[in-house]
Formats: sequence, structure tokens, C-alpha cells
Amino acid sequence: MTSPVSHLSEQLASKSISSHELVQQALAASSSDQDRLGDFLLLRNDQALKEAQESDARRARGDSHGPLDGIPIAVKDNMTMAGEVTTAASKMLEHYRAVETATALQKLQAAGAIIIGKTNLDEFAMGASTENSAFHSSKNPWDESVVPGGSSGGSAVAVASGHVPLALGSDTGGSIRQPAGFCNVVGMKPTYGRVSRSGLIALASSLDQIGPFARTVEDAATLYSVIAGHDDRDATSSTRTVDDVRSGMEDGVRGLRIGLPKEFFADGLDPQVAKVVHDARNVFQKAGAEIVEVSLPHAPQALATYYIILPAEASSNLARYDGVRYGLSVRDGAGLYDMYAKSRGQGLGAEVKRRIMIGTFVLSAGYSDAFYHQALRVRAALTEEFHQVFDQVDVLLTPTSPTMPFKFGARAADPLQMYLADLYTVPANLANIPAMSLPGGFVDGLPVGIQLMAKQWDEATMFRVGHAFQQLTDWHTKTPPNFRGA
Ligand code: GLN
Repeated sequence: MTSPVSHLSEQLASKSISSHELVQQALAASSSDQDRLGDFLLLRNDQALKEAQESDARRARGDSHGPLDGIPIAVKDNMTMAGEVTTAASKMLEHYRAVETATALQKLQAAGAIIIGKTNLDEFAMGASTENSAFHSSKNPWDESVVPGGSSGGSAVAVASGHVPLALGSDTGGSIRQPAGFCNVVGMKPTYGRVSRSGLIALASSLDQIGPFARTVEDAATLYSVIAGHDDRDATSSTRTVDDVRSGMEDGVRGLRIGLPKEFFADGLDPQVAKVVHDARNVFQKAGAEIVEVSLPHAPQALATYYIILPAEASSNLARYDGVRYGLSVRDGAGLYDMYAKSRGQGLGAEVKRRIMIGTFVLSAGYSDAFYHQALRVRAALTEEFHQVFDQVDVLLTPTSPTMPFKFGARAADPLQMYLADLYTVPANLANIPAMSLPGGFVDGLPVGIQLMAKQWDEATMFRVGHAFQQLTDWHTKTPPNFRGA
């Protein structure tokens, strides 16, 4: 399959279609599917069509801005766009109009991509199913009775259903990769610091990264290349040069060492998912990769560690929603305290409140050493183990998620069950390394993602291995019922 984005940009170049037509189709398909799939929180109808016309005019002048010029894209609604409502799927920000445009989105606009809308998510990106959105859930296009994953569920659905060929999500503990796996698309989290987080509504600042969704690794690499790089507006963004990830992408896996960390294949892994990863392992081996069993002894502690560090940072980041500075302000009470309590009480959902309480607790005097500081020690140990493992292997191969996509309601009442969905994705965030989920196969008609992880800043090898897999398999070409794209 030629990658959807290169196919579209060839069509645009040969003038067999205009960006205006493409965007019109994307908007029409998205709005007619909205009741069924609910991937969007906002469609930028008029604005997107206007920008598409500008793209067409640029092209007519011979001044096209590259492979994304004129291509429709969707972005998760926790990235700000000046003048547009940015909700983070929270009642708190239901009417909040952003004053700045996130750097990643500015880069998209500079590359000529047309942002057609903002996608649904779990409130403030806390969750793994989109059931925590304050507005509505999004449905998995492969089976509308199962969740699309989360928190970037809307972006995954928008790409999987063919509404757009590309989308952006954010990944703090798996929010790009897990929904990508559940929806049979590619989703990638860059190295921490590779993409600017300026304008991304903060969840946990030592973990958050923005990254691409696409149907092929090639398109994900194209989108990644547009958004990566240093930004003066984000002091955590690296000044290191961005590698050209596309130049070695065709080099295949012969001679590469692919590690299987044994802790990712232990108790709790659905055997059907294990089989898909095992099949992928065989594909790589047949293609000439060397398969190595490795160990990350602290990996089983990653989930507990994450669910201390994340709430700690989130409780601090979300303190800004106080009824004064942003969003909802309830002022019918008896003074300042009452305003804080009512604004936060009415504006924030149950999962968000739970994490603020856990975070405040693990940071509190008398407990921070036992919880928060202990978690930081485990994080450091795990990071060191990853460094050592990447002396032995080029990439790691694991399942993306321990289970198949689950039914709506199956985990919503039990937060611990929901947190288990993140078992295999949080280690990469804790270690600040790049990771990617890609279509690995199907069980009973539902997609299963496989995960690749690479060492810090080595996105190039990860894309190379992922691309090789897509040259050898056709899982990524499978589309769900009522698919809308080319
Ligand atoms: N499911 C994870 C959580 O709920 C991932 C969140 C994320 O990556 N934004 O924290």
C-alpha cells in the first residue's frame, strides 16, 4: 500500500484533487459519522475550508510547503489553538477560548496541514477508554460496543475510520499507543523533549509528549519530522539536532538485534495478545533480525511508580483551575474558599478528583518519602536498566496492551482495572524513551497492537524497524466497516 499521505500529496500535486475538496470530504465524513463514532469535539468547518483554499492558491503559485501542504489532520483537544475553544474534555474548560497556538500546531500550519477539528479524549488525558470525557465517549470503528482506548481515543478513531489520514495525540503513559493498538493504526511517542509541549495542557510535565497517529509508519515519520525540534517556548525541549528519520527507513531489519523483555510476557498478558507478538517476532526473525531475550527487572514496578508520579505532578499542574485564572468560575457562594471548592467541585470529573487527591497525598509531609521519593528511585533504576538493555539490542518488541479492546463499562467502575491497561506503555514514559504501537494482527475481528521501544533519541531505528514490519505484513491495510478514506 502506498502510504495514504504520499498518495494524497501526489493527487494534490497532479491536481487530480484540490485541498478544498479533500477537506470538504473529511469534514462531511466526520460530521455524518459523529453520532456513531464521536471522534470530534469540534469541527473547524469554515476555517478549515478557508485554509484549504489558501493551500490550493499556494500550490497554484508553485509555492507548496511540502508533503503535508493541503492534507487534513485532526488534533487532540488538549492542544491550544488561538481563538478556538480548547476543552481537554473537561467541564472546567468547556467555554475556554485559547489565546495561543501550541507550537506543534504552529508547525503543522507552517507546513500547510489543515487542522479540521479537535478530537475527544479522557478528561485532561486521564484514562484509557475515552469514557472519562465530560462530553461523550468515542466508539471503536471495528466494533462500536468496545472502547477505542484512550486518552487520545478521538484521534485514533479519526485516523482508523478514514476521516483523516493523520492526527496528533499526547502520550503521558500510553495515551497515543494504547488507542492506536485498539484501533489498528500507528501511534508514536517521541523521546521526552523531542517535541515542544508549549500549548499542550499539562498533565504530568516530566512524562508528557505530543506524537503522531497515522495508518503507516512512513506517514507517522513524516508527521513526526514536522513537529520535532527545539522550541524557545518550552525549556524542556531539546536543542539536539533532529535526525532525518526517513533516510534509513528502507534499510530493513537484517542484522538488527530485537530484544524481548521477559517481564512483558508474564502474568496478566492475554494469551491471544501474546500470540500476535510472537508471530511478529517470527516475522522479524525470518527477515534476518536477531532475537534476544532481555530483562528489565524493575518493569513490574513501573505501573505503581507511574500512578504515584503522575498524580503528584497532575495535582500540582491542575491547581491552576481555581475558578480565577481559567475556565469555570462558580461565584454564588460565601467567599473565596467557597468559590475554589465549587468551581473545582463542579468543573472536574471523578477521575480527575481522584488523581488530585492521590497526588496531594503522596506529596504530603510524612508520606512523600514513602511514596513520591521512593517512586523517583524506582524510576531511576528502571531508566538505568533500559540504558543497559539498549547496549545489547537495537529495539525492544512487546505487546502494546496486555488485553484486547474491552467493552464500554467493563472497567469504568474500577479504576485499578482501567490502570492495568497501561501496564506495558508507562515504562517508556518513565524512561523518557521513544515508543510506538503498530498494527500487529487481529483476534476475532478486533485489532492487536505491537509495541517497539528504542533508546533515547533513536526514533530513526524505531521507524526503520516498524516500516520493515509493514513491508512484510498487511495488517495496517485492513480497514474497519464503513471506512471513509482512500
Ligand atoms: N491511561 C494512562 C492514564 O490514565 C495514560 C494517560 C496518558 O498517556 N495521557 O494516566
